[in-house]
Amino acid sequence: YLDHNATTPVRPEVLEAMLPYLRENYANPSSVHSLGQKARKAIEEARTQVAALIGAAKPEEIVFTSCGSEADMLGVFGAAQSVFKRSGEAKNRVVTTLIEHEAIHGACRQLASRGFEIVKVGADRDAKVSPSEIEGAIDEKTALVSVMLANNEVGTIQPVRDVASACRRRSVVVHTDAVQAVGKIPVDVRALGVDLLSLSGHKFNAPKGVGALYVRSGTTLEPVVPGHQERGLRGGTENTAGIVGLGAAAELARKELDSHRVELLRLRERLEKGVLSLPRVRRTSMAEDRLPGACHFCFEGVDGHNLVVGLDLEGVCVSSGPACLGGGTGLSHVLDAMGVPRGLGAGALRVSLGWGTSEKDVDRFLAVLPNILEKLRAASPERVS
Ligand code: PLP
Repeated sequence: YLDHNATTPVRPEVLEAMLPYLRENYANPSSVHSLGQKARKAIEEARTQVAALIGAAKPEEIVFTSCGSEADMLGVFGAAQSVFKRSGEAKNRVVTTLIEHEAIHGACRQLASRGFEIVKVGADRDAKVSPSEIEGAIDEKTALVSVMLANNEVGTIQPVRDVASACRRRSVVVHTDAVQAVGKIPVDVRALGVDLLSLSGHKFNAPKGVGALYVRSGTTLEPVVPGHQERGLRGGTENTAGIVGLGAAAELARKELDSHRVELLRLRERLEKGVLSLPRVRRTSMAEDRLPGACHFCFEGVDGHNLVVGLDLEGVCVSSGPACLGGGTGLSHVLDAMGVPRGLGAGALRVSLGWGTSEKDVDRFLAVLPNILEKLRAASPERVS
């Protein structure tokens, strides 16, 4: 399994922590009885664990959501709407980038349908955005800036700290989608200087269906799901087991992040060396600042989708595009923004390593890859004509 940017396995320790809240303690955490209060306590402990992982000043700055996409919607749509109203409807512009995840683009589309102007700044050939370009796009009507911390396709880490400084100079609220970064690289909301940050459990060994939004004290939001839970910022009975799992995964990540990162870098080097020794292949991003488990290649004369299927038949799980697009074919918006030619981009392959990846997995991938490439190229029209 080499598709950790799509999702990760739930660690046994995380599952163990969750099970009591699925079996014995199924109480509603808003209930007054003792079972309910135990569930409430577990949620508050998880809030402290998540706050500690990202360096939040107070646990109350963490709002639990159902996923990273919902945290993005609350952080972008909810915050922009709030600024818009507080500014007497004067601030109706959002600045973001071309390389964001679909969750951000979707939230921006919702804002656009309510009359917001959305400005999308480009990226360079390594999928890195420029803080000065972002600052240049901010004007007096700008309500919010949203820039991702790490890209989900090629893994490039963005200069969010500089983006946030620019936003502070211009008194603009700043959000970062850190769904691919949290639990993989050190993330400190105060060092970054962001007002809002999204994260998602299933990207770092907690289950799917739980996420969180960091909301710096003093930042106002319009709820997307109304209700009394989460201090009125996110209604809906809390997913106690999922939240407990997220807390347990945060605790593990905080303790093991450094050693895990060293191991991932070693495995990545082995994998990249092996792949790049093959003919007609390019590493897509040359950026130094990349997620430790992220590899992305473009193979000439090969269709990425066929390559994924060929590898799958050999028992290797990888992607050619982001999972949210169904891993589908065609040039992704990120590769397009990087200026990757359409023909080359058609042979894209995303290989992502994570907790549980072994040298054996990497070697298995490297062992089967050349043969599959050879077969696909031999069968391609380019070769026939
Ligand atoms: N943002 C980024 C950068 C992602 O990679 C993803 C998931 O792929 C999301 C947001 C959405 O997270 P979730 O799947 O928890 O909704």
